[in-house]
Amino acid sequence: MTYSCLRCIECGREYLLSDIRFTCTCGNLLDVSHDWQSVRASFDLSREQFGEHSAMLNGQPAGGVWRFRNMVLPGFPDEAIVSKQEGNTRLYRSKKVSLWTGCRNLFLKHEGENPTGSFKDRGMTAAVTQARALGQRAVTCASTGNTSASLAAYASEAEIAGLVLIPKGNVAVGKISQALAYGTKTLVVDGDFDDCMRLIREAQERLGAYPLNSINPFRLEGQKTIVWEALLQLRWRVPDWFVFPGGNLGNTSAFGKALHEAVELGWIDKMPRFAVIQAQGASPFYEAFKNGFSTLRPQKADTIATAIKIGNPVNYSKAVRSLRWTNGIVESVTDEEILEAKAHVDAAGIGAEPASCATVAGLKKLVTAGIIDEGETVVGILTGNILKDPQSIVDYHFAKTHPLANPPVEIRAEIGDVEKILSERTER
Ligand SMILES: *Cc1c(COP(=O)(O)O)cnc(C)c1O
Ligand SMILES: [Zn+2]
Repeated sequence: MTYSCLRCIECGREYLLSDIRFTCTCGNLLDVSHDWQSVRASFDLSREQFGEHSAMLNGQPAGGVWRFRNMVLPGFPDEAIVSKQEGNTRLYRSKKVSLWTGCRNLFLKHEGENPTGSFKDRGMTAAVTQARALGQRAVTCASTGNTSASLAAYASEAEIAGLVLIPKGNVAVGKISQALAYGTKTLVVDGDFDDCMRLIREAQERLGAYPLNSINPFRLEGQKTIVWEALLQLRWRVPDWFVFPGGNLGNTSAFGKALHEAVELGWIDKMPRFAVIQAQGASPFYEAFKNGFSTLRPQKADTIATAIKIGNPVNYSKAVRSLRWTNGIVESVTDEEILEAKAHVDAAGIGAEPASCATVAGLKKLVTAGIIDEGETVVGILTGNILKDPQSIVDYHFAKTHPLANPPVEIRAEIGDVEKILSERTER
């Protein structure tokens, strides 16, 4: 039984799911496309099934991706699936972050709570499952860090050789540590992310290495579940906005597809709006948005938010489609705004890496501008864990010029010194 195929988003040409290709002969991107009529003939596609009992996978709770398996990779048997129970991430409410952004009905979905500390695991479980189904011997990616950490863990689990390419000097220490520790071969490239991405495409064409970047449409199938899970947590009450960072625009593409399909499946009957946030120094999507998406001009990217330091996003055309579906907007924020937002997210006891906090910086900017109303319901996505980039935290708090700087205080080994600091802290 075939439920799914690869389908060109421009010309509609279809390919077998087992074809190893990432673009159409016409040059455009491919979706994993599901024939809901035939899926429905075999499986329950109603949204009611998710509340009843927790779905199981190989004798374990299925987690937040594979509970949606019939809408992600329908028909794959349990044994075929490479999973670490990814997903089921928390939806935080925070008085402090609400107050600071001016957004009263804010829910922060923390994708940094995935097995390797970022949303990339949601995509990786699906794409590595497909890689193994295809009998691939080696998987690769270009990475700003989190994709390599995730690939390393899943390749290990699936017993497939992994090879990751990261741009020299631009990957946070937590992320490169993970790639090394999980045992993937790590190549440090004298170039930027966009150079690494070009090499990955060449490695696929010339050497047949299977790429796990978000140009791989199976990644996006897994990442759709971020949105579905948020809707489930909100008891299917559709929020007014989803706000999230944009780098290679995989999430922008996946989230739009998720919502489009949620309407097709009858799960929701209205679309929320998207606000995609880019760093000012890496904002080709923002610039394209301003010119009505007439052209994408690749940039030389520069931002402290290394996870979104991308100048030539591979998923551009899918992302444009998502913005059309959701009447979406794109905003850009400076590195200073990202760092300030991060200090607030961190000080609220939630914490996230810099790129994630572009979400909160952008939200504040859009509420201040009156584009997002302070009473509207907003789901903000925090994409990565606070411990991914400890250096950015140390740099911020040791520089006393920052408004929320909280540097450590050195004292003598005497109780009097402790008492003095304690009374200063509690007097206020
Ligand atoms: C990969 C990544 C992003 C960028 O997501 P895209 O889907 O490529 O736009 C943002 N934040 C973090 C933490 C990431 O790891
Ligand atoms: Zn085509």
